[in-house]
Amino acid sequence: MRMVTGEDMSGRLLSLSDAQRRVEELFARLCEEYDVEASLEFRAYKRRIALVLLRRGIVRLNVRLLDDAARRDLIGRDEPCLVFVERVLRHELVHLKLRTVYHPPGSFQTLV
Ligand SMILES: [Zn+2]
Repeated sequence: MRMVTGEDMSGRLLSLSDAQRRVEELFARLCEEYDVEASLEFRAYKRRIALVLLRRGIVRLNVRLLDDAARRDLIGRDEPCLVFVERVLRHELVHLKLRTVYHPPGSFQTLV
């Protein structure tokens, strides 16, 4: 994987570790917002975007989403890294909040 990934909100290029740190900060903020105890792990999945382990309170995010080209390939469109990742994390945290892997009507605003 390339070591330079997406741009931050002000257009600066981010290294992979910077991007991971930002995602971790974002995740911590969202956990507070949703009042959920969870931890975040990065994994390199081929096609999967993210995974939630309900009992262990773990969200696994495909680290390839932090790479612009890989993200485009995975989701089929261009979308800013943190915008997309925030939506994914919110989605997974709703699963944790509701303690279900299903998508009850009205519980999820938009599916990824
Ligand atoms: Zn889901």
